[in-house]
Amino acid sequence: MKCRICKAEAVVALRSHNAAFCATCYKAFFARQVERGIVSQHLFTHDERVLVALSGGKDSLSLVLELSRQGYDVTGLYIDLGIPGSSAAARGVVERFCTRHALRLIIKTTADEGLHIPLIKEKLHRPICSVCGKIKRYLFNREALAGGFDALATGHNLDDETARLFSNTLRWDGSYLSDQGPRLGEEPGFARRVKPLWRLTEFETANYAFLMGIEHHYAPCPYSSGASFTTLKGILQRLEAAMPGRKLDFYQGFLQRGRTAFAQGSPGDDQQLAPCRQCGSPTSNGDLCGICRIREALNTP
Ligand code: AMP
Ligand code: ZN
Repeated sequence: MKCRICKAEAVVALRSHNAAFCATCYKAFFARQVERGIVSQHLFTHDERVLVALSGGKDSLSLVLELSRQGYDVTGLYIDLGIPGSSAAARGVVERFCTRHALRLIIKTTADEGLHIPLIKEKLHRPICSVCGKIKRYLFNREALAGGFDALATGHNLDDETARLFSNTLRWDGSYLSDQGPRLGEEPGFARRVKPLWRLTEFETANYAFLMGIEHHYAPCPYSSGASFTTLKGILQRLEAAMPGRKLDFYQGFLQRGRTAFAQGSPGDDQQLAPCRQCGSPTSNGDLCGICRIREALNTP
């Protein structure tokens, strides 16, 4: 198999793009897809400052490396959740990566915020993955606003995005469907949230990470029973195998034509936001935001 661009021996074949690439041309293909994703959805410009949430996984590390190679102004953010057997290793990977590539890195530890995840798991009888996700999003937003960043980027890829879209569609969840896409947020009190890898699949990102020699953290979280949307991702994978390119079509079609249909939102989702008494974050919960309630519950004997 020959590279479509330079006719050298190919190392990656992509059926969805009906193409094969050598290592050099594959990196250029990946870069082009990231750039198209950013420009077409107006995610951010070269004059803006982007905070990139780094989990230690291949997606977010590939993302920050590619953005920095393209000359974007990036800073990494790692949230240390204090999960035994997972967080310290991931943190080490992120720290070594940022040192090696001379990237700025901010580290926040949830224990310092009164939000130690193992303690929450022990004391509060709530699904830990959803609490943990909530805390991460809260800290992403707070750090982006506090540091004066223009956008907060995560490593979500096309597989993550199409699985979420599929899930929202199966439920015809109007409020979620109107609030999905590679660029969100920017109401008062919320930072712009962007997903520059939205055009690239997990497989394509994994190839990039491999070719770039990225060391990443892949131990699953001990608190989680597995990746989210596993079943839906499997179904979409089978669809893609039978009809290459359908995943990107599905998502792009939604962005171009589907999303506007839900833009009015659903009845009942026009909740009023007011600042949390404790931390000032916008909340529809009334007096205290969800995160400050968790803190309070932890402090109650
Ligand atoms: P996940 O929900 O674990 O699939 O992660 C989705 C994205 O959230 C990743 O690509 C990262 O950008 C970000 N992320 C997840 N966990 C962390 C963390 N502990 N610290 C910083 N960013 C994270
Ligand atoms: Zn609060």
